[in-house]
Amino acid sequence: MNIREALVKGRQYLKEQQIDSFQLDAQVLLSQVTGIDRTGLFMRQEQPLTPQQQEKYQILLERRAQGEPVAYLIGRKEFMGRDFVVTPDVLIPRPDTELMVETAVKFFHKNSSCPPVAVDVGTGSGAIAVSLASLVQELQVYAIDLSEAALKVARQNAERLGMKERVHFQQGNLLEPLLKTMGEEVSIITANLPYVPSGDIPTLMRDVKEFEPHLALDGGPDGLDLYRLLIPQAYRLLQPGGLLLMEIGPGQGTGAKKILPAGQWQGTVLKDLAGRERLVLAEKKGE
Ligand code: GLN
Repeated sequence: MNIREALVKGRQYLKEQQIDSFQLDAQVLLSQVTGIDRTGLFMRQEQPLTPQQQEKYQILLERRAQGEPVAYLIGRKEFMGRDFVVTPDVLIPRPDTELMVETAVKFFHKNSSCPPVAVDVGTGSGAIAVSLASLVQELQVYAIDLSEAALKVARQNAERLGMKERVHFQQGNLLEPLLKTMGEEVSIITANLPYVPSGDIPTLMRDVKEFEPHLALDGGPDGLDLYRLLIPQAYRLLQPGGLLLMEIGPGQGTGAKKILPAGQWQGTVLKDLAGRERLVLAEKKGE
């Protein structure tokens, strides 16, 4: 079998198995197996696959047909133009979350006198923490997660992307590990905590529901339980004028603004490129 035949076969098989992204997925999986990038595949259509490559490709196609996300199959996902290692211990970084990183970077550019200190809570793969450290000069980022397994992946990403010296990982619940040692000295806290309402978990796409960690998705009855716990903790760490950024899902903006005590915070909801509510920007009011 050559590359052209393998692509046709993979595409047809995934289509039959009702995988919407059949075309792209077949290319990405074949590229993984052959070590040839996607453009290269089209230029080397007649190149034969080795029996080992054919076997590996077949296995990946079958796993994909069962709904396993491509990012887990190939072990990486692009976020903010960088490649991140991902395993089933972490949520796959979503393009929607780039809005949070962009918002944080803009804040630091506009407020250059702010201390270059940020916290990323529920860091998962470390995609937000490591991107921020790469995009803001001299920024120190404290990144926390409850899951040791996730931290292992996040540390690997910081190391691979050269940010090991400026991203500091700690295991713990929400901001607890920092509350013991830090005061009002943080400029920005980024939080992509689990926010899917428990009742909506069964309605998620199969790829998400069956393969991604529910610890990173389930946010309790209205999805905002973890943010309710986070907000008072964040208040203690942020300096006046500092920002708490919380990712949310469509329809959660009003609810999320309501859980911010009005005397302490100024809340704004931002929409993503698809026009859906995606980010709560909460500014800690000054003295
Ligand atoms: N956006 C995620 C999803 O697609 C949810 C992420 C989260 O709960 N933090 O399911």
